[in-house]
Amino acid sequence: MKADYIRNTTKMVVLKDLVTNKTRSFIMVFVGSYDYLTRSRNMGRNSYLYREPDYDGMVLYYAINGTFINGWRYSNGKLVGYISPSYNEQGESSVQTRGYQDCHDVYTTEYRQDCHDEYELVGGDMETGLIYDIVKYCDYIPYTTSYQDCHYVEDSTSDNDDDDNWWNNPYPPGGAGNETYPVKPGSNNTPKAKKIFRNSNMTEANWKVLEKMLDKILADCMGEALYNGLASFLNGQTLTIQFSNGSDGLFSGNGSTAGITLGSQMESNQLFHEMMHAYRAYQETLSSYKGSNMNGEIEAWYAQYLYTSRLPEYPGSKWEKRDNTDPRRIAIKNLTNIVDHKGNIRSGKSVGELELEIANRVVPTFHENYYPADKYPFDYDRPGLENFTNLKKLTINC
Ligand SMILES: [Zn+2]
Repeated sequence: MKADYIRNTTKMVVLKDLVTNKTRSFIMVFVGSYDYLTRSRNMGRNSYLYREPDYDGMVLYYAINGTFINGWRYSNGKLVGYISPSYNEQGESSVQTRGYQDCHDVYTTEYRQDCHDEYELVGGDMETGLIYDIVKYCDYIPYTTSYQDCHYVEDSTSDNDDDDNWWNNPYPPGGAGNETYPVKPGSNNTPKAKKIFRNSNMTEANWKVLEKMLDKILADCMGEALYNGLASFLNGQTLTIQFSNGSDGLFSGNGSTAGITLGSQMESNQLFHEMMHAYRAYQETLSSYKGSNMNGEIEAWYAQYLYTSRLPEYPGSKWEKRDNTDPRRIAIKNLTNIVDHKGNIRSGKSVGELELEIANRVVPTFHENYYPADKYPFDYDRPGLENFTNLKKLTINC
C-alpha cells in the first residue's frame, strides 16, 4: 500500500538550552514534495536531528500557539530556500522611506547543545531495590539560521532634498565628525571601530566586539586595504553601525544616515561583505550602483570567500561547509579556478572563459536563488575582470 506512505510528518520539538537553561518548544512539519512522498518510504524518519539524504519538500516551523515561524525548502537533500514569515510586513515598514530596501536571505548552519536526562540503573541494595542515577546526555545539534542581507537603494530622482541625498554627495552626510562624538583622550579603547563607525547607544561590549572584528579584518592584507580605503573615503566622517537582534546584515544609505547593521551572530565575514558594498558605493553614482547590483554582489561574495577561506578556523568549519553546499557559494568558489586572489586571470585561463562562467553560471545561479534579476541586474557592459576592479585595488600591495 504505497498510498499509506503519502503523508506529511509533524513533530513537536522540545529544546533545552544549556547556556540559558531555557526550554523552547515548537512544532515542525515536514511537507514532502509529491515526488518524494510517492517514492520514499522513510518520510517518518525525518526529524529535527535528521533529514533523509534525499528529502525533497519543505520543513516548516510553528510556535506552539500555531504562529508560523519560518521554513526551509529542500530539493533532493539540499537546502535550497528559506521561507520567511514576515516578508510583507518588512516591505511595508520601508514604504515611507525614499527608495527601497533590497534584501536577500542568507542561511548558515549553527550548533546548539541539546541535553536530556536519562535514568540509568547503577545497582541495587536490599532495602530500596534498584538504584538509578540521573545521567545527562548532550548532543551538538546543527540548526539552520538565516539572516537577511539588505541594501538600501535610494531613489535620487524623486528626492529634492539635497541634504537627504547622500548618493550625490561624495560622502554621506550625517557623519558625526569629532564634534558630536568627541573622543576623550585615554577613554577610547576601540579606536579602529570609532574611526569609521558611530553609534551613541551602543554598549561598550559591542564596541569591543566590533573592534575585534576589525582587528581580524585588518590582519588580512585585503581586509586592511578595505578598512583603510573606506576610512579614506569617509575622510573623518563615520558610518552608523548597529547590531540587530536578528541576524540581518545591512548596508544602507537613506540620507540622514549611511551605515551598516550586523546580525547578532557577530561574524567578521559579514562585516567584511557589507564594507565591500560601502567601499563600492563611494565610487558609483546611484544609477550605476543600482544598474550593476549583481556585479557588486559577485565581487563582494568573491572577496568575502577569499577572506573567510583564509581564516585559520576555516578548515572543517560551517563556513567551509556552506561554500560547498550553497549553489551561489559553489559558483563563487569555482571562480577561483579562473581568477586569482588579486583579481587577475590565472595562467592558462582566458578572459573569455571568465565571461562565459559569469554569464552562464554565476549570474543565473544568483538570479535563481534570492537575487531576482529585476532587483539585481547584471551590467553586461562590465565584462570579465571589470567585475573585480575593487578587489584588484584592495590587493595591489598584497
Ligand atoms: Zn550583498
